[in-house]
Amino acid sequence: MKTHPEKLALLGGAPVREQLLPYGKQHITQDDINAVTSVLTSDWLTTGPKVAEFEQAFATTVKAEHAVAVSNGTAALHAAMYALGIQKGDEVIVPAITFAATANCVVFEGGKPVFADVEADTLLIDAQKIEALITPRTKAIIAVDYAGQPCDYRRLREIAEQNHLFLVDDSCHALGGKYHEQPVGTLADLNTFSFHPVKHITTGEGGMITTDDENLAKKMRLFRAHGIATDHRERELKGSWIYEMIDLGYNYRLTDIQCALGISQIKNLQAWVQRRRDIANEYSDAFRQLPGITPLAVRKGNFHAFHLYVIRLNLGTLKAYDRAFFFRALRAEGIGVNVHYVPVHLHPYYQTLLGTKKGDCPVAESAYECILSLPVFPQMTSDDVRDVIHAVDKVMRACQ
Ligand SMILES: *Cc1c(COP(=O)(O)O)cnc(C)c1O
Repeated sequence: MKTHPEKLALLGGAPVREQLLPYGKQHITQDDINAVTSVLTSDWLTTGPKVAEFEQAFATTVKAEHAVAVSNGTAALHAAMYALGIQKGDEVIVPAITFAATANCVVFEGGKPVFADVEADTLLIDAQKIEALITPRTKAIIAVDYAGQPCDYRRLREIAEQNHLFLVDDSCHALGGKYHEQPVGTLADLNTFSFHPVKHITTGEGGMITTDDENLAKKMRLFRAHGIATDHRERELKGSWIYEMIDLGYNYRLTDIQCALGISQIKNLQAWVQRRRDIANEYSDAFRQLPGITPLAVRKGNFHAFHLYVIRLNLGTLKAYDRAFFFRALRAEGIGVNVHYVPVHLHPYYQTLLGTKKGDCPVAESAYECILSLPVFPQMTSDDVRDVIHAVDKVMRACQ
């Protein structure tokens, strides 16, 4: 690293890299391609044998009893709300810092999301703030393992049990993570995953719910297929045309093509999570000496899966620069930084629907002003990692 500040690319200097490094990216291997092409020439493109095979591989990986495959992570959350019987008048507590789908799924089933503030140093749902939000209408808590770090499930389980609430883990960031040696996917009554290309493994679009409760698994299988009690393949095997629709469901099925990709991808999970952790370690080592930024804290006992590597800018010490400046400056250097997330209660839709407003979740709101997600994905090279560190260092020095 240079001792004199270099001229920022934003101000006409040479960028650290010419080609933008994205914050996340899928990794598709030749094995993945072979697995998908062999399904394309098989008898089943959807609702065939690959679905159960992927579900089994996934359940085994996270050590859950049941896994239910669905078309995306949002459908997984929707199926979870359906299985728990969320309906009009019910309230579900969700963190203010998450992807909007965590709250939207409650609205899909007619319920009301209630936004809890987050811890300043981890951005995980603040267990201490939950109890004050519980009313006789509260039915569930959805915790989000933000960035890939499990929430405080010991405390969350206590709160859920004492108040007779269901606990859901939106685990979309945390596949491969652990809480005190216990895998993500087994930490809550229902645990939801996404296989969007930026997530730990991908099926293009895809999702999964894990649970140890057979009855909930059954409900979600019904829900993903129109509420119809038997699927096409079962009927074919039985030589029967009869089916009954016993509740209103959706078409949230995951195809065999996608499941074949998932089966192939999940074999790499452990190695890919380790690569993410190694990248995160390199960042943390480099940034320890750098004034002006603080990475998020990692709690003792947590095995972090690092879907995201999030830094907080210490804006008080950085003259007149704001997060937008750092965002633009790093992008100009070729580093595809991003912001996760706009606090959900501040989206116009929720402000109109629920009357939520600035000031409702002050910790989330002030965190939002100073967070940036840096690139982290398994195929990043050590040169890529060095470029990110160089660019962050360059921009921070220019702003001192
Ligand atoms: C990705 C994600 C989702 C939604 O997943 P999709 O597959 O894109 O529908 C939900 N919650 C969180 C926290 C996510 O990161």
